[in-house]
Amino acid sequence: MAKGYVRHKETHEHLAVYGQTPEVMVISCCDSRVTPEGIFNVGPGELFVFRNVANLVPPCETDSGHHGTSAAIEYAVTALKVKHIVVMGHAKCGGIQAFRENAGTSNLEGAFIGRWIKLLEPAAISLACMPVDKIDDPQLAMEYAGVRQSLVNLGTFPFVEEAIQNGSLSLHGAWFDIGSGELRVMDPDTERFAPAEPASIQAAE
Ligand SMILES: [Zn+2]
Repeated sequence: MAKGYVRHKETHEHLAVYGQTPEVMVISCCDSRVTPEGIFNVGPGELFVFRNVANLVPPCETDSGHHGTSAAIEYAVTALKVKHIVVMGHAKCGGIQAFRENAGTSNLEGAFIGRWIKLLEPAAISLACMPVDKIDDPQLAMEYAGVRQSLVNLGTFPFVEEAIQNGSLSLHGAWFDIGSGELRVMDPDTERFAPAEPASIQAAE
């Protein structure tokens, strides 16, 4: 159970006066076992975190829908001008598992979760047609593929593409093993995941 409310008075007084200037946005899953501030060992004001089911980034859509993930990305890139966006998948992701168990069925048409995780369909197609590497664990393979697809989808936002082109923003893929606490990062060239060196995200700045 929660141990209760802890007040970090001085830190928040400073943040209230000077505002937030995080350099890193993390997009991770809602899963309670995946806590970005804990994994990266940082305090208030250091990470701009957005969490949703299965850490998915939708493609840029300009319809009248309520696009919470896209709004957070827009704010991070255009207002906060973050230097890095990290899409962080994780082991034993229930959203990924639900997609794997229901792909190709009508279960993905209904309610909110089903329609949301349909965003993984292009990732599943890429995995079937152009696997980056041979992974025997289909759950892990899909977790990696979901991160890769979200990075592709990030590039469909014009303000993201522009920031990448002018060198002010870089995108990163990561995956967290909730069983061991190991963080793996994606090589941007090979798109393969390997264990991270401590503080490698900061070192990439
Ligand atoms: Zn998850």
